[in-house]
Amino acid sequence: MIGQEENILKTYFGYESFRPGQRQTIDKVIERENTLAVMPTGGGKSLCYQIPGMTMDGTAIIISPLISLMKDQVDALQSLGISATYINSSLEQEEQRARLQAMEGGQYKFVYVAPERFDSTFFVNVLRRIKISLVAFDEAHCISQWGHDFRPSYRSIVPTLSRVKNIPVTVALTATATEDVINDIQSLLGIADGNVVNTGFERENLAFHIVKGKDKGTYIRSFLNEHPNESGIIYAATRKQTDSLHDQLSKKGLSVSKYHAGLTEEERKAAQAAFIHDEKSIMIATNAFGMGIDKSNVRFVIHYAMPMTIESYYQEAGRAGRDGEHSDCILLFSPQDIQLQKFLIEQSLMDDTAKQKEYSKLQAMINYCHTHSCLTTFILDYFNDCPSGTTCGRCSNCLHRQERTDITEEAQMILSCVKRMGERFGVGMTAKVLKGSRDKKISDFRLNSISTYGILSAYTEKELTEWIHFLIAEQLLATEEGKFPTLKLNQNSVDVLKGKRQVWMYTAPIPSGEEADYQESLFAALRETRKKLADEKGVPPYVLFSDATLKELARYFPD
Ligand code: ADP
Ligand code: MG
Ligand code: ZN
Repeated sequence: MIGQEENILKTYFGYESFRPGQRQTIDKVIERENTLAVMPTGGGKSLCYQIPGMTMDGTAIIISPLISLMKDQVDALQSLGISATYINSSLEQEEQRARLQAMEGGQYKFVYVAPERFDSTFFVNVLRRIKISLVAFDEAHCISQWGHDFRPSYRSIVPTLSRVKNIPVTVALTATATEDVINDIQSLLGIADGNVVNTGFERENLAFHIVKGKDKGTYIRSFLNEHPNESGIIYAATRKQTDSLHDQLSKKGLSVSKYHAGLTEEERKAAQAAFIHDEKSIMIATNAFGMGIDKSNVRFVIHYAMPMTIESYYQEAGRAGRDGEHSDCILLFSPQDIQLQKFLIEQSLMDDTAKQKEYSKLQAMINYCHTHSCLTTFILDYFNDCPSGTTCGRCSNCLHRQERTDITEEAQMILSCVKRMGERFGVGMTAKVLKGSRDKKISDFRLNSISTYGILSAYTEKELTEWIHFLIAEQLLATEEGKFPTLKLNQNSVDVLKGKRQVWMYTAPIPSGEEADYQESLFAALRETRKKLADEKGVPPYVLFSDATLKELARYFPD
């Protein structure tokens, strides 16, 4: 027997089957249980209130913070023959009144409103008089002060609604899966533990990639050549970068549009419309683009530079693949990206505590660019949403996981160097000491006299910087946050130094082009270092610490 819900799914929406969590949420709402659905972006949250709204008597009220999306949602429902409208500040007073009247006359199955609407006593009084089927809080994380997008006006609806007595059931929907936010929504809207439908955060159709050691412009041009006619977004770090990328690519005859806050509102609207309606296939933009954009067939999101936080990265990259089809999220990393983001934090008007917090978020973003672990797992771990130890099998690290090289000795040298430098310096200085740099700062601090000075001279400073970031990303080395984070040993570092833990580097088997050159240079340096070590007999000098150092290590990191 096909249930009524399946029927609606097929006949009205034309879909074959429910996505994870949809059926369960719909059933609970129809049973008049207040429900919270946590599903990833593109997971299909709208259906979770649309199908119950269609089967239940009365009007469904949908509260949404995104005015720009209301019209699209309403148009979509109307095109399916379902009576729906929105009431918000974008309409003339006259039109607002007309729609309110029609709403009071019971003409709509769905009414979309912004939270501010509840400030109007008139509107609230209309709510009291009509028959309501359900109230839906879309983007419900906005109600929580722990959410990244807290809106006080969202929260203040709750007491108002409790005075509207005729609400049979409330459903909340969000893609934010953190415990704080979930608990907050539950207690504010009276949702029992058993009525939280959480499918988690993972977007199984997204493949994350990190690309480094390549010319970014060349990479983008060849990527676009290999993906003709696909819709995608390229996020640049600045307006200037957006303009110059747009120039370059349009000169190559590519179908590109651009968007940033420096353009007029007209220009931005036109650019956005051209992209949404597939007149231009590629949007080049700063992070000003995307809020309230709901385009389902975005096949790739390329970040021309590293963003400041994983939160913003996941949100921006997550604009790919809302239709559930395979899509690529590519981050083009270069070490200068770190400097730019630090500069932006430093220049900002935040107080020191807030800056400190941003620096630690930035560190997580840097770690993402340097880890050799699964990128999907890394992100889910960051949001506490993953049983650690799983891998996705589709990110660039999972795909490159074929070959591994033991680099325990290099790691020991680096860690030993950090200790010998007194754990008082950052990534840059440590790379210089390992390289044996003649920089004046090195002699000023007399770092050229320690035994690890120049011990990895076969590598370039850039490669050594990468190694150190890699050790941090794998939590084999700690940082003290700040503008110039100082490197510190942790328990894992000591385990590596004592030879109790091995360190592996993962590489792709047959890289080509620039990547091959990059990898070859690393391996050449590796061989040279190994040869130097083999020539020295006995215990390598870099693991020989003084008695005092050994005692200190034992005190902080007992066996
Ligand atoms: P969310 O609000 O969770 O980000 P939407 O409700 O906007 O997601 O849905 C994203 C896309 O998935 C839309 O294009 C929608 O039509 C489609 N969709 C939703 N449910 C299904 C389903 N059961 N089968 C196929 N496509 C679906
Ligand atoms: Mg949605
Ligand atoms: Zn993976």
